[in-house]
Amino acid sequence: MRTTILGYPRIGAGRELKFATEDHWAGRIDAAALQHTARGLRAGVWAELRDAGLDTIPSNTFSFYDQVLDTTVMVDAVPDRYRDLDGLERYFAMARGVQDVPALEMTKWFDTNYHYIVPEIGPGTRFRLAEGAAAKPVAEYLEAKALGIETRPALVGPVTYLLLAKAAPGSPDGFRPLDLLDGLVEVYAELLERLAGAGAQWVQLDEPALVGDLSAEDIAAVERAYNRLSSQPSRPRVLLATYFGTIDAAALKALAATGVEAFGLDLVAGPGNVDVVASVGGLLGRTIVAGVVDGRNVWRADARKAKAAYAVLLGLAGHVELSTSCSLLHVPVDLDAETGLPEAVRDRLAFARQKVAEVVALRTMLTAEDPRPVSLEAYAAGTNHEVRARLDALGDARRGDRAARFAAQRARLGLPVLATTTIGSFPQTDAIRKARAAHKAGRIDDAAYQQAMRDEVASVVALQEEIGLDVLVHGEPERNDMVQYFAERLDGYAATDHGWVQSYGTRCVRPPILHGDVSRPEPMTVEWAEYAQSLTNRPIKGMLTGPVTMLAWSFVRDDQPLAETARQVALALRDEVGDLEAAGIGVVQVDEPALRELLPLRARDHAAYLEWAVGAFRLATSGAADATQIHTHMCYAEFGEIIGAIADLDADVTSVEAARSRMELVGDLRAAGYRNGIGPGVYDIHSPRVPSVEEIELNLRRALQAVDPARLWVNPDCGLKTRAYPETEAALRNLVTAARRVRATLN
Ligand code: GLN
Ligand code: ZN
Repeated sequence: MRTTILGYPRIGAGRELKFATEDHWAGRIDAAALQHTARGLRAGVWAELRDAGLDTIPSNTFSFYDQVLDTTVMVDAVPDRYRDLDGLERYFAMARGVQDVPALEMTKWFDTNYHYIVPEIGPGTRFRLAEGAAAKPVAEYLEAKALGIETRPALVGPVTYLLLAKAAPGSPDGFRPLDLLDGLVEVYAELLERLAGAGAQWVQLDEPALVGDLSAEDIAAVERAYNRLSSQPSRPRVLLATYFGTIDAAALKALAATGVEAFGLDLVAGPGNVDVVASVGGLLGRTIVAGVVDGRNVWRADARKAKAAYAVLLGLAGHVELSTSCSLLHVPVDLDAETGLPEAVRDRLAFARQKVAEVVALRTMLTAEDPRPVSLEAYAAGTNHEVRARLDALGDARRGDRAARFAAQRARLGLPVLATTTIGSFPQTDAIRKARAAHKAGRIDDAAYQQAMRDEVASVVALQEEIGLDVLVHGEPERNDMVQYFAERLDGYAATDHGWVQSYGTRCVRPPILHGDVSRPEPMTVEWAEYAQSLTNRPIKGMLTGPVTMLAWSFVRDDQPLAETARQVALALRDEVGDLEAAGIGVVQVDEPALRELLPLRARDHAAYLEWAVGAFRLATSGAADATQIHTHMCYAEFGEIIGAIADLDADVTSVEAARSRMELVGDLRAAGYRNGIGPGVYDIHSPRVPSVEEIELNLRRALQAVDPARLWVNPDCGLKTRAYPETEAALRNLVTAARRVRATLN
């Protein structure tokens, strides 16, 4: 039995790559210095993996930004607008944009919180293998080899690459990037030949797209591609790696007929893979790279489960190699850096470095008599009997009749038609950040920090009153992050000190760890909302993060279904809503920006997910009185697949990112049966550009074609925390003016 992993974090244990890259962007270090740091990081990872005792080590897992963007450069699918630039400058321009040339689009990598740069492929795209350093897998293979380390270059596979690409603007209708597969495969064939020439024994082609829904045409394309690649006369052996779910059975069957030597299967996210292998057959003599150590979550491996899967697979294929379920890119680097975690939690965890050791340890363990040494035993999570009993008693919770709610809220809030509001956060100023850092470092005490935040709230409330907004917010200055803030206040959650994970480019996040039953020891947001409300006669909207988003942006316990964990979070939020009401808050927003993100990769799993996701939201909000107005907010999504679920949330008001999709969403929601208030974002907060009054008016008039004025809300399309004050003020003034003008024409 042999051992490997599919990939490793590239940012460095101390986020060295982030800091070096940002120094380079700011002109503090030159490209050579950045390359020097990068080489050091790569060498460090290879040496670490070798010293840990892995049998085969991946290379080309490093990236200055993202592996999909690397592929775009490698196959020279660079859109013309970047062709004046060169090297790293061009590379970063594609990722981040420059003066007059915007960046390529960015989107989430499957159902993870990692983002890739979306390739733009048109009928005119001519793939060719880039020369020199741009043929990165060859260069990095040789770099490792020069250090005496044999590696297996890992590449995004050609099918996945094209399935993740979007048709370049101006492509004819019906054009799919996958139409260009054959040309792309020739480039990969040439690359395989070059890798073989350099001495590579194995190559890893990542094809996670094979765990999604595939058409017969897609499967035929997969077969064609891998027939061609495996018939390349001079090439390394091919490991075709899938992950994030169960491989499509028809795709595996087609692949079994090609010359591909090894298949990587994710046995954590895709336990069904064992059955697929059994049903497909024909894999004797091939190698299964069994992903038994979870590459996406932070829990230690369960040796019993690994042993069971290993035994079955061994009977079905000739060789089984042990591996991680996917690249370790999605977990933090080193648990040893965490000194602040409770011991009982820490004992259950493994980060990337520990997971490599687990893979190696499993090798001996699985062949030993007793496969359950204590060191790998799963520890039970903390149980909260009160929470469980309350949830059993609550069952499926819903709010009352919507007409009664509408009337009660109108009587209580007395809002005009086309009511104006914001999504919650106001600009996070330098002063706020400095106060938070000073508080964390102990330079100012709790009271001084509280006072600084209260002053901020007071100024945000005064500003909104002066601008003339109708429903005000406190501005969220006290929140570092919309998930972490709540995680720090809930039992059952723990925060790490250094648990950084790459989200995109140099942006790293530190997801909290949800390790046990969740409960709320005391109110989490009430004092802020109450204080803000004490400063104004207009309604203050309380701000909470919804249960699905609380899970999506955390590492979540895997010993019970997500649905159950979501209900526990929802119960804590339900109590918070109750406390906000008791404090006199009449409007509460429960944000669910990640509702779309957790949608399963396969259409057949959508309904079950949406049912629990919607159920959790309703549990969180349905304790509210009729006169309490519940808002929700969603962003970053093609809402298409979840439009029915948005309606089912049954919030009184839903605000959505729609500035860029020109209000179409309003009509879509109506068609899906949504009859409550709707706030399609009337301008894009992702840019500092100030929208004109006319432009906002135009958006409102468009929306009014699909919704009556009493249900239309006027708001930006997301929170304002990443913006600065000058443009925020100007934009909100224009927003209020536009709403007033349109209102005047209605009477
Ligand atoms: N209330 C949050 C804010 O305004 C919502 C953030 C989000 O949608 N991602 O910042
Ligand atoms: Zn948003």
